[in-house]
Amino acid sequence: MDTYDCIIVGTGPAGLGAAFHLSANRSDLRLLLIDKERLSTGGLRHDCKMNFTYPVGFPADSWTREQAEHYLELVVQHLNPSFMNKTGLETYQRRAERLDVRLLDIRQYHLGTDGGLRLIKSLMTEIERRGIEVSLGETVVGAEPADRRIVTNRRDIGYGNLILAPGRGGFRFLQTAMKKAGVHYQDNIVDIGIRIETREERYPIIRDYYDPKFYFPGLVRTFCTNSGSAYVVKERYETREGRHYYSVNGHAYSNSRKKNGLVNFALLKTVTLTAPLASGQEFAEMLGCQAMLLGGDRPIMQRVGDFRVGKRSKAETFCDDLFDFQPTLADCAAGDISLAVPGKIMRNIWRSMKLLDTVVPGVLHPGTIMYYPEVKLYANKPSFIDDYFRAAEHIYLVGDGAGTSRGITAAWASGMRAADGILSS
Ligand SMILES: Cc1cc2nc3c(=O)[nH]c(=O)nc-3n(C[C@H](O)[C@H](O)[C@H](O)COP(=O)(O)OP(=O)(O)OC[C@H]3O[C@@H](n4cnc5c(N)ncnc54)[C@H](O)[C@@H]3O)c2cc1C
Repeated sequence: MDTYDCIIVGTGPAGLGAAFHLSANRSDLRLLLIDKERLSTGGLRHDCKMNFTYPVGFPADSWTREQAEHYLELVVQHLNPSFMNKTGLETYQRRAERLDVRLLDIRQYHLGTDGGLRLIKSLMTEIERRGIEVSLGETVVGAEPADRRIVTNRRDIGYGNLILAPGRGGFRFLQTAMKKAGVHYQDNIVDIGIRIETREERYPIIRDYYDPKFYFPGLVRTFCTNSGSAYVVKERYETREGRHYYSVNGHAYSNSRKKNGLVNFALLKTVTLTAPLASGQEFAEMLGCQAMLLGGDRPIMQRVGDFRVGKRSKAETFCDDLFDFQPTLADCAAGDISLAVPGKIMRNIWRSMKLLDTVVPGVLHPGTIMYYPEVKLYANKPSFIDDYFRAAEHIYLVGDGAGTSRGITAAWASGMRAADGILSS
């Protein structure tokens, strides 16, 4: 059986952060990066918008500002971002403050979906140049912590240390691995919301601030704004029982692509459930399935003009008169999202939309589209036994899957933090 000093599962930003940091500090270590895909997935591959300011992407229960800022400076050295300019921020912030809304001033860098692919290729070339072994298209099916080996669909491999960074999509894999390693975990928060799509002139702030981060009362926030050449997409998810649902998302291409004049962004409400409900994840999955039931196995979309008067949207009038642009996600059912979104969540989101329209007038134009559901699941939160995301002897859990990040830069930082744990042991 082959044995490595460290095996890293996942070539997303968390896995890459760990690999680069380990190899930079200990070139003698034998490292293996494994991924079931042929290319890294997630945000590096879709849109690749990076935020370099705490607290965006850094869950407060895993990171202090000082820790995040320390690692963010190292992430900057690796990814060499060109930060985007912002203009007129004070005016928007003044308007927001009057309404108890916060607009964060975030350092941002946007590569676009095509730029992200180029970045992945150059990072993988550098990984190879450093002599880190990479195995793509190989799925890790489990870990055997007692004899320090992992089992893949091809072989058994021994490890000195193991870093698991399987992302949000690796939710179930991580849960099984945690059970096997005796790691205690608890339920995590879920984010549930809608995605807005409108004409750029109805959300002109994006000309001043690429991905404006608004925080509204009621734990609602704007998330992942895309413009220029921007599209709404749907992603397929499977529940524990094998049912599936689609969550919407958004991305944009780099500036070199033809612009479509549209902008999209999510409005997400964070939901923390406590006893007697056992699992926020299952709650969110049920909402996803319910939306599929109402949308005929597709997400639902509704024009603001219909929503505000309590009417469902219909396919035959969806692009009529004031409803003056085609939805970029065509495979979606015109309907009534208020039938599908829980009342409390919908009230909070609608209130946030009205507040947003007061800060940036235009977004409540009748033609604006609301897509549902946009669901963000995070794996169950492990109990860590040290400050380096070590969850069991020689096992570190990092990235979005382990709940230690919610974005590219924080995921990269969490991988580096686990690497520091290994370097200091
Ligand atoms: C459509 C989309 C757009 C996004 N846009 C942005 C954005 O613009 N900016 C931003 O900051 N964030 C964005 N995100 C979020 C971002 O992708 C994540 O925060 C980030 O990628 C998390 O990094 P990670 O390394 O934890 O996981 P991931 O990037 O998801 O990587 C996990 C890797 O582990 C592999 N893996 C999983 N299980 C196994 C297994 N059993 N065996 C082997 N390999 C396995 C997966 O194939 C995957 O490559 C986006 C996410 C999506 C889905």
